[in-house]
This record gives sequence, C-alpha cells and structure tokens, in this order.
Amino acid sequence: MSGRSRQVPGVCPLDCPDTCSWVVTVEDGRAVKLEGNRDHPYTRGALCEKVNRYLDHSRLPGRLLWPLRRTGRKGEGRFARITWDEALGEIAGRLRAIIDRDGAQAIWPYYGTGTLGMIQGLAGSGRRLWNALGTSQHHLSICMSAGGFATGYTLGDNRIGMDPEGIADARLVILWGANPLVTHHHIWKFVEAARRRGAHVVAIDPVRTRSADRADEHLAPRPGTDAALALGLLHVVVARGAEDLDFIEAHTLGWEPFRQRILEYPPARVAEITGLPVGRIEALGERLATARPTAIRIGPGMQRHAGGGMAVRTITCIPGVTGDWRYPGGGAAYDTRAFFQGNWAALWRDDLRPPGTRVLAMTRLAEGLLELRDPPVSALIVYGSNPAASAPDQGRVRQGLAREDLFTVVIDRFQTDTADFADILLPATMQTEHTDLHHSYGHAYLGWNPPAVAPPGECLPNSEIFRRLARALGVTEPSVYDSDEALARAVLDSEELRAAGITLDALAERGWARLGQPQPWAPLAKGFPSPSGRLEFYSSRAEAAGLDPLPSYTPPYEAVARDPALARRYPLALIAPAGPHFLNTEFSNEPALRDKSGPQKVLLHPVDAVARGLADGDVARVFNERGEYLASVVISDRVPPGVAGGSKGHWPKLNPGGTSIAATVMERDADMGRGAVFHDNRVQVERAAMTREEFARAFAALGGAAVRGQTASVTA
Ligand code: SF4
Repeated sequence: MSGRSRQVPGVCPLDCPDTCSWVVTVEDGRAVKLEGNRDHPYTRGALCEKVNRYLDHSRLPGRLLWPLRRTGRKGEGRFARITWDEALGEIAGRLRAIIDRDGAQAIWPYYGTGTLGMIQGLAGSGRRLWNALGTSQHHLSICMSAGGFATGYTLGDNRIGMDPEGIADARLVILWGANPLVTHHHIWKFVEAARRRGAHVVAIDPVRTRSADRADEHLAPRPGTDAALALGLLHVVVARGAEDLDFIEAHTLGWEPFRQRILEYPPARVAEITGLPVGRIEALGERLATARPTAIRIGPGMQRHAGGGMAVRTITCIPGVTGDWRYPGGGAAYDTRAFFQGNWAALWRDDLRPPGTRVLAMTRLAEGLLELRDPPVSALIVYGSNPAASAPDQGRVRQGLAREDLFTVVIDRFQTDTADFADILLPATMQTEHTDLHHSYGHAYLGWNPPAVAPPGECLPNSEIFRRLARALGVTEPSVYDSDEALARAVLDSEELRAAGITLDALAERGWARLGQPQPWAPLAKGFPSPSGRLEFYSSRAEAAGLDPLPSYTPPYEAVARDPALARRYPLALIAPAGPHFLNTEFSNEPALRDKSGPQKVLLHPVDAVARGLADGDVARVFNERGEYLASVVISDRVPPGVAGGSKGHWPKLNPGGTSIAATVMERDADMGRGAVFHDNRVQVERAAMTREEFARAFAALGGAAVRGQTASVTA
C-alpha cells in the first residue's frame, strides 16, 4: 500500500436495514476502493451488488457538479449553470416573497429516504431551519409508516422489535413479506445459523422470491391477506392450548377479547380468504405452537395496502400469544431504531416550530400540489427523493410539478425525473464526501461516517446547503448554523448513550459501536414501552384513532370481494417490491446495474399470459384507470394466477413510454400512519403497440441519456 494511502471507515447511507459499515481506501485524495468492514459484526466484510458500485456511481458523467437554473419548460430538463451566490440569492428571494404572500406553511420541504443519516438525511437535515421558518411539516409516509404505527399501538414504540441477530437462536424462522437475499442479505447468515441448529425456515410471500427458494417452505397467500393468515395460525395455537398463559398474564393487555377474535378465524375460513390450503395453515400453526423461540422478520412491503397496519399489528401480536418475546431469538423484527436512545429533541429543535403547523404526507403529493389551499403549496424543496418516479399517481404528480406558479428547488446528485421540474437544481455530495451519523432499522449498531474525499465540482452537503440558505434568508436563530459535528454531539448527548460509553470520539475511533445492549438479548422480555407497560392486544389508542381496538383483518381497497366490477376490469393484483439492482430509485441511472436489470418487466403466470396471447419478451401495456407503463413480459410461475409481478425503482424517463409502476398506484392512505398502498393495485395487462425490437432500441437509446448528464442538458 502506498504511503499516501489511508483507510476511512464509513457507513452505507441507503434505505436498507443493514446499514453496512464500510471502509474507503483513499490514495492521493482519490477513493480507490470501497469494501465492507470485516470487523463489523453485522456487515462482516460484505456489501451488496448495488453498493459495490458506489464509487463508480459517484463518478458517473451525469453527476451534478454545480448549481443550475431552469431554462426550458418544466419537465423538459434544460438548465444553465449559475453560481452558488446566484442560486441561494434567488431561492431566498422567492421564499421570502412566498412567506410574505402566503405564509411559511406554503413551503413544503419534501425529503425521502435517499440517505438515512441523522445529519444529511431524513432523521434531521434541515429540520431546524424548517422549524425556525415555520414551514409545513413533512410526513415520511412512503415506506414503513403503517407498520410503524401498528408496532406503536401494540408494543408502545413505532420502532421497536426483536434484535435480528437473535434469529440465529430461533427454532422457527418466518420471513413474512421479506426477501432478505435481495434486499438485506446480511440477516441471512443468522437465518442459516438457525437452520444449522435445526430451525425450520418459512417464507410467506405472494411471490416466490429468491429467499423463498432457499426457505424450507413457502406459503403464497393472496396479496393483502396476511392479517387473516396470522389470525388463522393463532387459531391453531389456541386450539392446541399452546398459548403461553404465564406470559399473557404478566405482560399483555386484552387477551380475552383478542382470544375471541382469534376464534373467528378457523383455518377453513382463513383458507378461503388467503387462497392457501387448510392443511398448510394447520401445519404452520402446529409448528408455531411448539417451536420456541420463533423469530418473525416482517418486511415493509406487506403493509402497503388498505389493511397494512392491521397486518403488522396482528403479526406482532403472535409472539405475545406464544410468549416468544421473552426469549432471545424470539419475537418480531420490523424496525429497530428505538435501540438508539439519542437526544432527538436537541437535534431537531421542534421547540422552534410555531404551534399548529400542518403536516403533509409525502405520498399525497399530487393532492398537495393540485388541491391544497389556505395556503396552497407555493414552494417545494426536494432532497433525498425522486417523487416524479416514486410517488403514487405519477401522472397527477407530474401535473402538479409542472405548475408554473410552483417554485421548486431540487437538491440531488443526478438529474432525476423530479430534477427536470426544478427551477433551481443544487448539487449534493455523496456519502464518501460528507459527514453523517447513522442508526439502523435492522440492527443494534451506530455508525460514524466522516468524509473520505473532497466533493467534486461545487457539490455541497445538504447540511451546508441549509446553513447557507438560512444565511441568505437572514434567519437569526443561532442553532440553524451549528456544524455537522455539533449536530452529531447534540443527538449523542443522552443519558442512555453516556451510560453505554458511546461518544463521538469513541465512534470516530472505530467507525461503529454496538448500542450498549447485551448479546443474546430479548429487548422486550421484561415489559413493553406502552402506556400499560404491556403488549396491548386491545389498544385504546387505536380505538381513539377510529380503528378496531383489536387486531383484525382488513381486505385491500381493491379486493375482489369489495368491488367485483373493478376486479373484472382489472383482474390482476400488481405487486412490485424492491429488486436486486436498484435501491428505491437510486442506481436506476447506473449503466452497469441498469444493463443487468433491463427495462421494466411484468411477471405473469403462464395461465394469465396465455389468456392474453402474450409470450416471453413481448411488450405489454400495464394499466388501470390511474395510468399505465410499458414492460417486457416474463412468464413465470413465481407469481400465482391473478397476480402480476414487477420491481420498483425505475426512472420513468429511462424507460420506453416515460412512466413507471407508480403511474398505476392510487394516492390513498393505508389504515394507519397515512402509509402508502403501493401493493393494493389492480391492473390489466395487454399487448402494447410497440414491438420487441422497437422497445429494445428505445431502452438502449435512453441508456445513452442515463450517463450523458449535464453535457447534454446544460448550457455551461
Ligand atoms: S444497501 Fe444495504 S446491503 Fe447494500 S451496502 Fe447498503 S446497507 Fe449494505
């Protein structure tokens, strides 16, 4: 290794529960290698296919390098280079005028999961400034919200669950709507460790995923029927008298009414709802009755429908009945962020916010831009997000973004579909170029990410952009100017972290730290952080929110039984989870990964393909009343009849037809937390007018645009 070479530990910032620790090798100021940290107990030296290309991605020719001002029509994507002073002066002037005319709530700071860091990303960046200005608040409803609220009603904290490392100690592992081999593979080593010790591994998913292939058993219920299945499994447990009455007595609330609810779901009824054979439900129920501990990994995809919150709530109650919460290796893992007991109040400074500011849900963007009044949304500041590609009801979202009277600032690393609508486009740093602090929604480690290299061009960290914007706006609140290090020290300043010996200096030394908990660990063995201190089968808080206080099954909005006429027009239930090549819409413009992924695809069971006269590789139009997209047909028995499969994350403008799956998704809330309903989506599929050859040519041509970036669209 050269004398000018150094190694900088850091953290993967992406929307993934594994929150990998990585090491960047820097030579002569250039990052030459990025690899998984071998010393980290969860990462163990491995990243994933996507992030192995992170350094190449950070150097794509299309990387935004300086501020830009729009020169073409909104959506056209034509820009001219300007200076930072010009950009910030113009943004401050426009925002000030909007505040004077409509009030600060006319500004919507719109952020997504592009980076999960506490300083640059969704947990914190900009929040002090937005609070000081009194803008509308942003509700991050796109990902885990319904399930988070469900966990909150049941366990008392939206972000608590079992320690996923404990899965190694389980005797039965249920991957419920989770496909870790594709989306968070680091957990798999604990699954395999459990299996080596004799555990049985079950995948529950309407699609036969890669993880289902490797499980011992796969159950494919109808989409959106998971709560009914959970109740049916509990019926078997109760019928055998296998409930853990000691645990129920000591640690739960509302058992008797919940028991009555369970008895309403005998396996025969559940078989009708889920489409699963009675025998399979009974057999898994039998296993659940006897296998201690049982670990359930809940994936976020299964809560993106009308009853998604209730589904997670019901599944989270299973270990309350079997008593599995009492064992290391038992319980359910949906989110683990509550393992980090940081000083959020000090980081966020919500005390600066005027009382009563409205909250806008990110998955209701079209409604927000097209229908909201008093005040209307007059300015949109987008960072870490690509809503023109990912938000529901894509057609109306684009209509809203095209509003001439909407002032839009986009902060990003690439010229996304959303960036094409920006008035001002600002270049952001990537993770190797800035400071950040990360906890995880899938394990119990904290990570510190210092900048490994200088940013290219004139890119700036989000945190620095917001400090400069505050100055341009003349904000007098001093805390909005705190440095990144001061922000990190603020959130680390808690009793719990001090007791665990976690300081910024200690973190900076090694790059990561376990959050003070023992191993093996059963975080909820001694009680729950709910108002009663118990797991609440009966939740008065759910009742007060207008929900059934007991776990229950809520059919999808577009369930056949709810609207048979709709189901005749749109006979296929579309499921589009994360694929192996993109992370949300990140990497969709990365040439190597895009080549591997190919264009958008629609998986059809042979029965459904034959009924439509479609063959493998044909070009199909996938549509409903909301919108449509083009996709290449893949005939596969990975999906059952009546289900169409796809994968999310494609940039519309890089795919023939210029739209993506979100064009067909309804803009409507799930039952809890205003969660999105991406998988509650009925479509029809038919042959498209485009031939295979035309489709392939169009996709290849758009690949050129994927990397040509500023040189083609920017007047320098
Ligand atoms: S995306 Fe997930 S698996 Fe891949 S490197 Fe990042 S944290 Fe690890």
